[in-house]
Amino acid sequence: MENCIFCKIANKEIPSNLVYEDEYTVAFNDLNPQAPVHILVIPKAHYASLNETDDKETLAALLNAVKEVTKKLGITDYRTVINTGKAAGQEVFHIHLHILSGRPLNWPPG
Ligand code: AMP
Ligand code: ZN
Repeated sequence: MENCIFCKIANKEIPSNLVYEDEYTVAFNDLNPQAPVHILVIPKAHYASLNETDDKETLAALLNAVKEVTKKLGITDYRTVINTGKAAGQEVFHIHLHILSGRPLNWPPG
C-alpha cells in the first residue's frame, strides 16, 4: 500500500536490518528497541491490523516466522506482542508482531 512504511520495508524500498524472510513474511530489527532483542515480523501483504484480515495462510505464516526467527537466533525465552488499535498502542497500521527478548519481561505487562 502506498505510503505504508512497512510495505516499503517489505518491498525493500527503504532499508531495514532484515533478520528473516520467506514467501509471506519479513522480519527486521525495531528502530527503537524496547529490549536487547526487539524484532518485528510483518506480512508482505498489507493488512492494517489483525482486525482487517482473516487470511489464515498469512496469519499462520506470521507465527511460523516467529518460530524460524527465534530458532535462528537461538532464543528460547521471549515475548510476542501484537498491538491492535490505537488504544492498545498500535502506531503503524500494517500488521506486525513484536518479538522481545534479552531482559526480564514483567507480567502482567501494564
Ligand atoms: P506499534 O506501536 O505496535 O505500532 O509498533 C510500531 C513499531 O515500529 C515501534 O516499535 C517502532 O519503533 C517501529 N518502527 C517504526 N518505524 C520503523 C522502521 N522504519 N524500522 C523499524 N522499526 C520501525
Ligand atoms: Zn503496508
